[in-house]
Amino acid sequence: LHVCHIAVEMAPIAKVGGLADVVTAIGRAIQDNGHLVEIILPKYQFFNNSVLLGGKEYETHFDWAGTTIRVEKCKVEGLQCFFIEPQNNMFQTDSVYGRNDDAHRFNFFCNAALEFLVRTARQPDILHCHDWSSAEVARAYWEHYHHNGLTKPKVAFTIHNMNYGQAKLGEAVHHSQVATTVSPSYAGEVRGSPVIGNNGHKFTGVRNGIDPEIWDPETDIFVPVKYNADNQEEGKAAARAELRQRAGMTGWDDKPIVGVVSRLTAQKGVHLIKHAAHHTLSRGGQFVLLGSAPDPKIQGEFNGLANQLGGEDTGFFFAFDEPLSHLMYAGCDVILVPSMFEPCGLTQMISMRYGAVPVVRATGGLRDTVFDVDNEKERAAWEVGGSTDWKTDGDMTNGFSFEGTDEGSLNYALDRCLDAFYNDREWFRSLQKRVMLQDWSWNRPANDYEELYYKMIGR
Ligand code: ADP
Repeated sequence: LHVCHIAVEMAPIAKVGGLADVVTAIGRAIQDNGHLVEIILPKYQFFNNSVLLGGKEYETHFDWAGTTIRVEKCKVEGLQCFFIEPQNNMFQTDSVYGRNDDAHRFNFFCNAALEFLVRTARQPDILHCHDWSSAEVARAYWEHYHHNGLTKPKVAFTIHNMNYGQAKLGEAVHHSQVATTVSPSYAGEVRGSPVIGNNGHKFTGVRNGIDPEIWDPETDIFVPVKYNADNQEEGKAAARAELRQRAGMTGWDDKPIVGVVSRLTAQKGVHLIKHAAHHTLSRGGQFVLLGSAPDPKIQGEFNGLANQLGGEDTGFFFAFDEPLSHLMYAGCDVILVPSMFEPCGLTQMISMRYGAVPVVRATGGLRDTVFDVDNEKERAAWEVGGSTDWKTDGDMTNGFSFEGTDEGSLNYALDRCLDAFYNDREWFRSLQKRVMLQDWSWNRPANDYEELYYKMIGR
């Protein structure tokens, strides 16, 4: 297969959100499977100083739309990239987004990228575009380039964020052969939305993964004593001690630590996070939170909560602190993710890799990754339709989940989790071990994308 991504973000050189990670991760995974992968990106001004770019391999240029388009070929993260640089200085910017003419600039980029493919006689099997910012690829391809030299490709379009540029998203869904979003359950939840309209038949979900090299308690430089599934108890105990020390927690140590690592926004279920802090303490546990609140009102509420609960059994870190997030996952027994909606969610997958048991609201990607230990039906459904490639003891269940958006619903899941911790520590430790062994890397999603690509070209 020859797969060409056209995107405006790519990790780590131009990263704003999850879209950047996905482009790099599936690009690499598909390439590792033996396919030819190319990525076309705008050449932003901020690349000029980037030490992350491999040596420039060649440069070409052509005149188009009243300007000269320069194209540089470089390697990034082992992937072949083409940087489009219009000489009208459109991408002389120090960030990916944020100008009034973003929509115009990205439209121009998408067309210039297609023009580049035509002029270099490239005929990828798959053009893969992402979110509103490269949605124009799908439209321009079918309305213009498909009849003008670029006959072969099929177009895949992935929606990472449903909330931006909905008119453009809908257009791209309409013009692509396959449209995807970042988990099967979330795809089901938004299938009836105006963005998908009557294109439900070509819309599907492929869950995201985590990078097992970045998130690995065995090599993690932010984890005081490295550990794996076989010696997690010592590793987690050391992380827990450091976490308690950093939070200044003085309460009795042998209590479960329930943690939250999150942006503090309504999407993430802040009302349930606040309730969980109270409830955990009332059940004799400890509660730690690493959260960044863009909204001062929400921040104020959490300041109040921190004061009210005192410091003995709680730790509140109000920051976006990546190193500390590693220590949180390692030091906590339980990680809570009570999102109101969640396209995929990474925190629950990371926490599992670090042996923290997830307690989640069953929505979107959380539903596709956390399987309740008390839900026999869920287990059976997963075993029939799901993966058999995990090297676990055959039991796929891995956490606790709840459906509703009210406090009672959260208690239902959190109480069962805490009961298990208090009443059967041995079983709880075996659950921690089991979740650590599950594979939430990109292996499986990459195969799913590969399968989709093959289907698109009729193979
Ligand atoms: P979203 O992208 O909606 O915020 P995800 O679960 O997809 O949610 O991704 C969240 C990522 O951001 C995870 O890697 C998580 O560890 C990280 N994260 C969230 N909040 C913080 C924080 N306050 N400090 C450090 N990392 C955070």
